[in-house]
Amino acid sequence: MITAFHKSRLGAARDGEYTPNWFIRWPWLWTSVLGVCMALLALAMLSQERAKQLEAERYQLLQLLSMRASALEGAIQTGVVALENIRSELVLHPDYDPTELDARVALFLEHYPHFRHIAVAPDLVIRYIYPTKGNEAALGLDYRTVPVQYRAVETAINKRSAVVAGPVNLVQGGTGLVIRVPVILPDQQVWGVIAAIIPMEPLLQQAGLAELQRDYYLGLSGKDGDESQTELFWGDIELQRDLAVTSPIKLPVGRWLLHAYPRHSESWRDSNLQLLALVAFTIIFLVCAAVLLFLRLIGERERALHTLAFQASFDPVTRLPNRSVFNEQLTSAMKRAQAEQSSLSLFCLDLDEFKQVNESLGHQVGDELLKAVAIRLNALVQPQDIVARLGGDEFAVLRFIDPNAESTEQFAERIVAEFHQPLDISGRAISISCSIGIALYPLDGLTAIDLLKHADRATYAAKEIGRNTYHFYDAAMQKEADRFVLLHHEILKGLELNQFFLVYQPIYDVNTGKFTKCEALVRWQHPERGLISPLDFIAVAERTGAIRPLGHFVLKQALADSQLFRRQGLELQISINRSSQEFNVHHVAQEWLLSIQQAGLEYNSIIFEITESLFMDRISVQQNNILALHSEGVQLAIDDFGTGYSALNYLSRYPVNFIKIDKSFVNDVDVQERARALVAVLINMAKVLDVQVVAEGVETAGQLAVLQELGCDFIQGYYFSKPLKLEEFVRFLQQKV
Ligand code: C2E
Ligand code: CA
Ligand code: CA
Repeated sequence: MITAFHKSRLGAARDGEYTPNWFIRWPWLWTSVLGVCMALLALAMLSQERAKQLEAERYQLLQLLSMRASALEGAIQTGVVALENIRSELVLHPDYDPTELDARVALFLEHYPHFRHIAVAPDLVIRYIYPTKGNEAALGLDYRTVPVQYRAVETAINKRSAVVAGPVNLVQGGTGLVIRVPVILPDQQVWGVIAAIIPMEPLLQQAGLAELQRDYYLGLSGKDGDESQTELFWGDIELQRDLAVTSPIKLPVGRWLLHAYPRHSESWRDSNLQLLALVAFTIIFLVCAAVLLFLRLIGERERALHTLAFQASFDPVTRLPNRSVFNEQLTSAMKRAQAEQSSLSLFCLDLDEFKQVNESLGHQVGDELLKAVAIRLNALVQPQDIVARLGGDEFAVLRFIDPNAESTEQFAERIVAEFHQPLDISGRAISISCSIGIALYPLDGLTAIDLLKHADRATYAAKEIGRNTYHFYDAAMQKEADRFVLLHHEILKGLELNQFFLVYQPIYDVNTGKFTKCEALVRWQHPERGLISPLDFIAVAERTGAIRPLGHFVLKQALADSQLFRRQGLELQISINRSSQEFNVHHVAQEWLLSIQQAGLEYNSIIFEITESLFMDRISVQQNNILALHSEGVQLAIDDFGTGYSALNYLSRYPVNFIKIDKSFVNDVDVQERARALVAVLINMAKVLDVQVVAEGVETAGQLAVLQELGCDFIQGYYFSKPLKLEEFVRFLQQKV
C-alpha cells in the first residue's frame, strides 16, 4: 500500500542527505578541470615552443630555397645571356652568313652545353637551326602560323626582352624551356627572333634542386612565367602547397615560384592538426563537464526536494511513514476496503518501559531500539501491509484482512512472541515487550480518526491488563474513555469552583503517646453527585493529567492549613500524597520547596507520600525531584508499602524516612500468625534500614496492641479517628492534648 510516490521519496532520502555545497562534493570534477587547464597550459607552451622552432626551420628552408632559386635563375639567365650574345651579333650583321653563325653558335654551345638547339627566325620564319641534324623539320616554320608560339614571340617583341616559356614536352623525351629573344635593329625595326630550347632536368640539376629533393618535397609553379598558373609544372605531387615555403625565381618576363617543405619533419604537418585536436578535445571536455554538472545539479535539486518531502512525511529515525502520512494511507486503505467489501485490522503498538530504556541507556540507544523495532515489524508484515511510527514509542500496523490467511489474533500473538526475542542494540541484548491495541474496520470505526482512537484505547486496555499482550477494542472501552474525558473536565471545573477540600487523619506516635502527624486527604464535594471519594477520581486524574492542578491545590491548601495549625499551637508534621506523574515535571521540586518556604514552614514539617513505582521506573526527572526535596530536608514516606513491587533494594539507595504498611497487612495482624509474621519482617527490615514505620488502617485495639508489640512507630486508622474536616480535626487534637 505504500504508493510509488512514497517509495520514491523513501529511496531518495536513503541515498543520502542533501548538502548544498556541491563544489566540495565533486572533487573529481574540479580536479579534472584543473588538470585539463594545466595540460592546456603546458600544451600551449609546448606548441608555442614548437611554433618558434617551426618558424626557425621555415626561415632556414627559405634561405636554402632562395639560394637554389638564385642558382636556377642564374642558369636560365646564362642561357638568355648566351642568346643575347647571338642577338648582338645579328644586330651588328643583319645580313648574316649562316656558316659564320654556325661557327659562333657552336662556340656558344661549347660554353653553354645545355642548349638542345637554337633556331634563328628572321622575319619570324625559321631559317637556321643548329644543330641542323634531326631538326630539319623545323626549318621554314613561320611562327605566325602557330598561335601558341606566336603569342610568346609577340610578347618578346613587345617587351623588347627575352621571354622564357614552358616547360614543354620535348620530342626527344623530357621537358624543356623555350627561350625567345627578339632581334630589334637600332632603327627599332623587328629583324626577327632567336629561340633556344634548354632541357629542364640538367638545368634543375645544375641549380641543385634534384639534390634538395632528397630532403624536401619540391615544386615549381607559374608555367610560362605566369604567376597566376598555380598548378605545378614540375615537382612532387605530394607537395602540400599550404604548408610549403615559397621562393620566387625571376625570369626575364614574369616569374616562377619554387615551393618546398620537409619530407620528414612531422611537426610541419602535425602542429596545426595537434592544435586543432587539442582545441576540439578541450571543447568536448568542457561541454561534457558542463552537461555533467548540469545533470548533477538537477539531480541534487531533485534529491533536496525529495529529502524535504521525505522529512515532512517520514520519521527520520525509523524511516517509517509518520502519523500524518499514515493517516492518509489509512484513509485511502479504508476507501479501498469499502469498495472491495473487505476488512482491515489496525494495530497500535506501544512499547512497554521504553521511557526507562531511553532514560537509563541514553537517547542514542533509544533511537537504535526504535530502528530495530521498525525492522522487526517490517519483517513480520506482508508487502501490502503498512507499518508506521505514530510518535514516541508508538507504532501502527495496518493489515488487509484475508479470511484465508492468518487471523488477526494469530498475527497479534506473533508480534507479542517476536518481541520476546531480545533485540541486538549495538552489541547489547535489550528485551522490550509491547502492548497492542486492535481496532477493526468497519466494525470499530468508519473514519481514520475513530479507528486510530479506538485502537489506541485498546492499547491502554492491554497495558492495564498487564502489558506484553494485545487487546481488542470494544464499545465499553469507549464509554470508559468518554467517562474519563468528562471527569477530567469536571475536575478542572471543580477546582475552579472550589469543590475540593482537604480532610485530615491524625497519626498516633507510639513512642510519645501523642498525635504528632496527620495525613491530608482530598475530597470532592460534587454539586450533583455529592461527596466523592478520591478512589473514584485520583486514578482518572493521574491518567488524564488533571492530577497536576489537583496536586497543586492540595499542596497549597495543606500548607495554608498547616499555618493555621501553628496558630492554634499545634505542632504537626503534615503528610501529603503525591502521584508519580507529579514528579515527572522538570524542577517541580523547586516549585514545591518555594511554596513551603513562602508558607513560612520548615521543610522537615512536610512529608511527601509516594509509591514504590516512583523508584522502580527510574525516570531521571522524577529521581532528580526526589533528591532535590530530600536534600532540603523534606521527608519522604513510601505509601501502601508491600503491595507493589517486591524489590526492596531501593530502600537502601534512596532517602526514605517512613514506610506506611498497607491496611491489607494490618487487617489480620492480630488474628493470623502469618500476617503478624509478615508485618514483623517488614518492621524489622525498616529498623535495619533506619526507616520508621507507620501502620495504616488500624481499626481495632487488638491490631494496635500487636503493632505496638512489634515495634511499629506510628499508627493511623479509624481506631483513633477517621479523616476529619479541618475544624473537627483541630477540635479532636485539642481534646487529646
Ligand atoms: P491512602 O493514601 O492509602 O490513604 C489512606 C486511605 O485509607 C484514605 O482513604 C483513608 O480514609 C483510608 N483509611 C484510613 N484509616 C482507615 C481505616 O482504619 N479503615 C479504612 N477502611 N480506611 C481507612 P481515602 O481518603 O479515600 O483515600 C484513598 C486514596 O486516595 C488514598 O489512599 C490516596 O492514595 C488517594 N488520595 C487521597 N488524597 C489524595 C491526594 O491529595 N493526592 C493524591 N495523589 N492521592 C490522594
Ligand atoms: Ca497516603
Ligand atoms: Ca496508603
